[in-house]
Amino acid sequence: MKKTVLVSGGAGFIGSHVTVELISAGYDVVIADNMSNCDMTGYEGVSKIIGRELPFIRMDFCDSQAVDKLFSDYRIDAVIHFAAFKAVGESVAEPLKYYKNNLMSFLNLLDAAHSHGGCNVLFSSSATVYGEPDQSPVTEQTPRQPSTSPYGNTKQMCEDFLRDCVKAYPDIKGIALRYFNPIGAHPSALIGELPRGVPNNLVPFITQTAIGKRECLSIFGNDYPTPDGTCLRDYIDIVDLAKAHVCAVSRMIDGKMKENYEIFNIGTGRPLSVYELVTAFEKVNGLKLNYKYADRRPGDVVAIWADPTLANEELGWKAERSIEETLASAWAWEKHLAETGK
Ligand code: UDP
Repeated sequence: MKKTVLVSGGAGFIGSHVTVELISAGYDVVIADNMSNCDMTGYEGVSKIIGRELPFIRMDFCDSQAVDKLFSDYRIDAVIHFAAFKAVGESVAEPLKYYKNNLMSFLNLLDAAHSHGGCNVLFSSSATVYGEPDQSPVTEQTPRQPSTSPYGNTKQMCEDFLRDCVKAYPDIKGIALRYFNPIGAHPSALIGELPRGVPNNLVPFITQTAIGKRECLSIFGNDYPTPDGTCLRDYIDIVDLAKAHVCAVSRMIDGKMKENYEIFNIGTGRPLSVYELVTAFEKVNGLKLNYKYADRRPGDVVAIWADPTLANEELGWKAERSIEETLASAWAWEKHLAETGK
């Protein structure tokens, strides 16, 4: 019998790509989303790619009764939790909004999972938990640093909620995936990142500048202690990242976990500077990008990249798409948005 995976926040950027990979791996998927940070583009794109509609529940995970009902209505074998706010700057300005939403939604999910006989829970965490590490690459053993934003705090706290619940309740198993910098889009160009307003992240800002929605990209800081003076990150292709979720879900459902709570870094292991990324984008897409150097962005870490060895060995997962393919897919998606008037 097919196993069912609940994807909270399944209409968003990462959730939509993960849904496609879960379906292609033979899972049933139930999508739940309150649509607070996206429209139906992601859901419609998924439907086109897989050739059918999936169960879609519009609901807020802060509503404990709605979460409980979801677990009554469906037999859920695993849940992947994406539903959360994610803008670092906004979280500093509105900490209560972030703490209430990101913590309450996950607590409700854990509570419902436990009261309905247990579940496999995959939490979408972030490399932000490492803060500014003393050295890169970082392994899962690298100590977490005190967070510099309420957003980062919610990632650390939710990791801890999951760890503690796994310890106390044998019916809950958990994996936290710590993403580095997810970028790019599905090769079909039917799903991708659709930020509301001015993008905070680098690649959407690049593609919007290239298409003419933004006048000029600011590269935040070129006087960092790195080879070309710009920050170093580990940019991970969104489809590769989505596949890591399938590996993690299978590991839980198939009873392959070595511990009941596990953490994996999901990155390429390859650092790239902002300047190198911009240059690679120009080269692969055959265009010139309007950019300038600007002041450092407060709160940015200088350099961080993953040691993905554990995920490679234990999950049997490896980042495969080249940065060129990824950046071409990001550009194809931006052009698709322009063609469809979005
Ligand atoms: N960045 C930039 N200009 C932008 C957006 C981002 O120079 O308009 C830089 C940012 O300073 C960082 C890198 O791009 O060094 C990645 O930033 P992003 O916000 O995408 O991810 P983060 O690593 O901060 O989570």
